[in-house]
Amino acid sequence: MKRARIKDVLKTSPQNQEITVKGWVRSFRNNMFIALNDGSTNNNLQVVVEQAGLSEETLKRITTSASISVTGTLIASQGKGQVVEVQAKTVEILGDSDPDKYPLQLKNKPSLEYLREIAHLRFRTNTFGAVFRLRNALAFAIHKFFNEKGFLYIHTPIITASDAEGAGETFHVTNLDMMNLPKNEKSEIDFKQDFFGRAANLTVSGQLEGELAAMAFSDIYTFGPTFRAENSNTPRHLAEFWMIEPEMAFFDLNDNMDLAEDLLKYVIRYAMDNNMEDIEFLSQRLTEEEKQKPQNERSELTLIEKLKFCLDNNFERVTYTEAIDILRDSNHNKKKKFQYLVNEWGVDLQSEHERYLVEKHFKKPVILTDYPKNIKAFYMRQNDDGKTVRAMDILFPGIGEIVGGSQREERLEKLETRMKEMNIPVEELWWYLDTRRFGTVPHAGFGLGFERLVLFVTGMTNIRDVIAFPRTPNNCEF
Ligand code: ATP
Ligand code: MN
Repeated sequence: MKRARIKDVLKTSPQNQEITVKGWVRSFRNNMFIALNDGSTNNNLQVVVEQAGLSEETLKRITTSASISVTGTLIASQGKGQVVEVQAKTVEILGDSDPDKYPLQLKNKPSLEYLREIAHLRFRTNTFGAVFRLRNALAFAIHKFFNEKGFLYIHTPIITASDAEGAGETFHVTNLDMMNLPKNEKSEIDFKQDFFGRAANLTVSGQLEGELAAMAFSDIYTFGPTFRAENSNTPRHLAEFWMIEPEMAFFDLNDNMDLAEDLLKYVIRYAMDNNMEDIEFLSQRLTEEEKQKPQNERSELTLIEKLKFCLDNNFERVTYTEAIDILRDSNHNKKKKFQYLVNEWGVDLQSEHERYLVEKHFKKPVILTDYPKNIKAFYMRQNDDGKTVRAMDILFPGIGEIVGGSQREERLEKLETRMKEMNIPVEELWWYLDTRRFGTVPHAGFGLGFERLVLFVTGMTNIRDVIAFPRTPNNCEF
């Protein structure tokens, strides 16, 4: 008999029909009631084993996280807490789980830190069940959004020879013998003898290749893994994360901001329309967690209220220069409450400044534009003032930067001059510059960090808890 998903069974009207369900035991009460879960929902299906005629020995094997297959009849539940239950006729143990050795005892509420150490099992908790179903829904919603808008999904390479930002936070890719590295005349490592005949690394962004595709298909996006060897051990940075990068020909910065705001609202709405049960669970979890904090550190809104708030408000659009004035004149700055005080125009904003603007000053998502050219990448379009570029960062409550983007410099001469100023190898990027030689057009794009989006929608506070197996400094388990 075909296995029924528990999520569907719970919505089925009980008419004594025979069904088969399979899953993992969450609990077994009074040698009678099994709470069965198969990951399709956090809600367990109650299985009553009374009439299955199980031996003493079989009953002992129904332990937490043992896997079982049950065939029985679906009936209206007599007990409280559920509408339907299964009256088991047969219970087959598929895999035992030794209760003395099983590391995940749900009764004593394991901490998120402990669950990271047993990430291979944390999928079986309600919190991570909800997080990963939401992550899945958001990924689907992103593809749906772009597909409906006629964008082409492009797969950009994972291994590249270019460092898109020139930031140098790349992982090398090599098959040279580390114990016996070949050297050239200058006694440097001779990458000519390496696999690709040159030095290669894992991609930090698909943007440059994305731009090439946009110069033919007009509207494209990528959605793939990116890698950054940044040593920042923060709750918002991973060494391996997923990024969504749309790139649009004939777009200026305003079009770019409109698209990013539409995308964020669309996917949040999609999650609320399709996964409200999981969001409700996580909203309660967050409220519980915040009770541990002192009153003044708790957020004023619940998770659900935060998501609604984001949908109901236009993101505030302000220039970097306006933001610096706000920060410099803020009481927070005057009372020296920032770790990094804001004194002069031109400094890069820290996460504490971004969060102040969003959470304290504007109290809604903010889009900052027109940053100083010296703190931004070479490809951003230069403004006439000679000081700023057409950049935009979207800042979210609790997160800080969630999107980074810009209108791109489409004028060959300006781009080349800027690259030389910033020591970006012009010859190596000949293919990138060709787009400016052959039918260049105004264009724009952005990068949305997928895990930061999942953080926002799930209300989790550490990025390590929204990706299955996080890669961070000194951590590559599983
Ligand atoms: P940050 O200042 O937070 O390090 P960034 O300026 O380096 O971000 P971009 O290079 O603009 O970020 O990348 C685009 C988006 O990718 C960011 O807005 C963010 O959402 C996400 N992102 C960047 N670095 C990471 C990381 N190490 N881990 C997870 N997401 C990241
Ligand atoms: Mn960064």
